[in-house]
Order: sequence, then C-alpha cells, then structure tokens
Amino acid sequence: MKKFAVIGFPITHSKSPALHNAGFQEFQIEAEFEAIEVPPENLELWIKNEFRPNFQGAAVTIPHKETIGKFLDLESEAASKIGAVNTLYWEKGKLAGTNTDCIGALKALQTRVNPSGKKALILGAGGASRAIIFALCMAQADVFLWNRTKEKAERLAQEFKISHIDLLEKINPEDFDIIINTTSVGLNEMKSVLPASFWSPHHTAFDIVYSPLETQFLRDAQNAGAHVVTGDHMLVHQAVEQFRIWHGVDLDPDVMSEAFFG
Ligand code: NAP
Repeated sequence: MKKFAVIGFPITHSKSPALHNAGFQEFQIEAEFEAIEVPPENLELWIKNEFRPNFQGAAVTIPHKETIGKFLDLESEAASKIGAVNTLYWEKGKLAGTNTDCIGALKALQTRVNPSGKKALILGAGGASRAIIFALCMAQADVFLWNRTKEKAERLAQEFKISHIDLLEKINPEDFDIIINTTSVGLNEMKSVLPASFWSPHHTAFDIVYSPLETQFLRDAQNAGAHVVTGDHMLVHQAVEQFRIWHGVDLDPDVMSEAFFG
C-alpha cells in the first residue's frame, strides 16, 4: 500500500487527509494518508528514517515549509524562488520538494478573473504572500504589495521586482482590480485590514483565510457588489496539484471541495 502524509507541528486541524482520501476513493487508489506531528528538532531524522524508506509523498505545513529544503535532494524553481516547500515527491529516485500554494492561489483566482494585465494589490508579506506574489508575477499581473511592517514589504518588493505601498489611506481603490488578503487578520475574528468604504463592484476580492469562509474582508466586498473568492478554493486547488504530482491524474476539484465541507 502506498503511503502519504501531511507533516507539521501541531497538525490537528489539517484538512489534507480528508481531501486526499476523497481523491483515493475517486480513482480507486490503494493508499493511506496520515497526519503526522513532527517537532522541528526531529525533522531531519524523520525525513531520513521514515519518509525516505516508507513514503511516496508528503504535504508539508507550518513550521517546516521554510526549513525542510536543506534535507532534500532537489527543489523546484517555484520552491526555491518562494523559499518554501509544501510538497515532497520522488523524481527519478531523488527526493524533491516543490510549492503548490502558488498554483493553488492562481487557479482559485482564475475561477473569477484572469489576472493577466490586471492591477493586483496584495495585503501581507508572510509565507503565503510570497507564493501568491510568485504566482501573480508568472501570470503577468501588475503587482503591488502592502504590509503592516513596512520594511518587510519593501524587501519583498525589491526581491520580486514589484511595487510597494506604504499607506493604504493614500491609494485610490479604483486603481486596483484584484485585492488579496494574505494577512492573518480575519482568522477566527470579524476584522478586516480594509474599511468597508474601500470596495466597489469593479473589484475582485480574494481572502486566503478559510476559517471562517465568509470573512469581514469578503463580506464588505460582497456587500459593495464586488466579486469574491473564498480561501477554500486555494486549499483545494493546491491539493489537486499535489494529487497530480503524486498520482499523475487530474482530479476534479469538486471531489476535494465536497470533502472540505463534508
Ligand atoms: P505569516 O507568514 O505568519 O504572515 C502573517 C502576515 O499577516 C504578515 O504579513 C503579518 O504582518 C500580517 N498580520 C498579522 N497580524 C496583522 C494585523 N493585526 N494587522 C495587519 N497585518 C497583520 O502567515 P502565512 O503563512 O503567510 O499565512 C497567513 C494566513 O493565510 C493565515 O491565516 C493562514 O491560515 C492563511 N493561509 C491560507 C492558505 C490557503 O490555502 N487558503 C494557505 C496558506 C496560508 P507583519 O509582517 O507586520 O507581522
């Protein structure tokens, strides 16, 4: 039986086993998918003694995404540019790492809008932001970055050759087509980085926070007539991409969406 896992610390809330088990059922793949808690100090040994001899693939989550790269044989271009690995797989006998958050975010956004040539404002400069900046640059959007800690936005903007914004109060909302919240504001709270007055029907709002699904950010946008994309789409599409890498088949995202809500 093939073995897969999601590793993190802690790992209790991961949706990955439910999403991938739904895919196994759909394609009648004989495999198991475990959620495994791996403390940071055990990561190197877990890769060597557990993953390498026993596993065909693994999803990687907090806090290992930025540190696991040094224990692998190779990294994809996406993973090295983003600076984070969320997927382990085997390539011609070598242990490889890639990042599927970028393609997951792009596909989620594309359910509503084609970002090519559009002005996109990204709020937040953490790990998820890096994957989304990478994806939007690949998709040829015109990317602007704002972050609470200004210096971080400046540094990231320089690295990815995008623009940064110091003060949200000074911008004209109508200058932007797509607004993406990658901050943790809204996670288990009804707060938004933007005031309700920001929004108009011209905008597409994407919040990657998925607990709750209807965040204050998206509620305000929707009330103003904007298009909205909820965070579950990114999670599902990045898992569909993992499924393609591991099993070589294209899974209908609806199969994983049903498992997300099930
Ligand atoms: P992270 O690396 O810790 O970054 C957090 C970001 O939020 C930073 O830019 C931080 O700004 C900002 N922030 C935190 N509190 C703030 C506040 N009160 N006001 C303004 N900005 C604030 O986290 P991450 O890994 O990028 O994840 C961010 C969120 O995305 C989390 O809620 C996570 O669950 C979600 N996520 C969703 C998916 C998905 O598939 N849908 C995937 C990955 C992550 P500073 O730099 O100023 O501290």
